[in-house]
Amino acid sequence: MLIDIHCHANLYLTIDEIIKEARNVGVEKIISVGMSYISLERILEITDRYSILYPALGIHPEEVKNNKDIESQLESVVDFIRKNKEKICAIGEIGLDHHFIKEKELYPIQSRIFEGMLALAQELELPINLHTKGAEKIIFDELPSYKIPNVNIHWYSGPEVFLNQGIDRGYYFSITPAIYYSPAVKNTVLKVDKEFILLESDGPVKYSGKTGTPAMIREVLNTISKIKRIDVVELEKQIEENTKKIFPKIF
Ligand SMILES: [Zn+2]
Repeated sequence: MLIDIHCHANLYLTIDEIIKEARNVGVEKIISVGMSYISLERILEITDRYSILYPALGIHPEEVKNNKDIESQLESVVDFIRKNKEKICAIGEIGLDHHFIKEKELYPIQSRIFEGMLALAQELELPINLHTKGAEKIIFDELPSYKIPNVNIHWYSGPEVFLNQGIDRGYYFSITPAIYYSPAVKNTVLKVDKEFILLESDGPVKYSGKTGTPAMIREVLNTISKIKRIDVVELEKQIEENTKKIFPKIF
């Protein structure tokens, strides 16, 4: 069984087709992660409608740029997530972004939202799905102050020193189709033990101009199998076990 642990399923216009394609290659579960304030309700709607989809809720670090009101909405986001805690398997997508977000004046707001999300994950005893782009050091310094069951670093492509730190701390790393062209993602695959690898599409993000879909993780698995020289059947089983450990609520 393949599981796409990070997908923005609410953003597809042709979700029926996307799900059909995914099932055809053996994807049986897809975690649909939160992003904007307005996405949260929509995610619960579609995950209710499609049995293959499981919700995670959180505020994406880029939301500070898209939504000027997000800080004042934080309390209602937290209430909404608390109210739906039984339905969700993780808090995510959350984190900091100092790479795509260039406006430094937004960083303090981003940090306050992130801290609110970390405190919530601790309170609800849920794992987190983390975006760390360009802010790896700040995030890795901050994480030990929270008691969070498990940490998933999504699409890691940052400095090697934090990759090593994450490995030492037992974080899980999810691998996207960027494995085909990104030396940093390939290095993540080489360095992280097979017991801590997960699969994700981050769809509908584009890879070399092609819209990312959950079905693509079959080929991601094949590529990891070649890079790590592990039998593909064994690796698929191993990644399923890893996913059970970090996101037990979707099983
Ligand atoms: Zn994402």
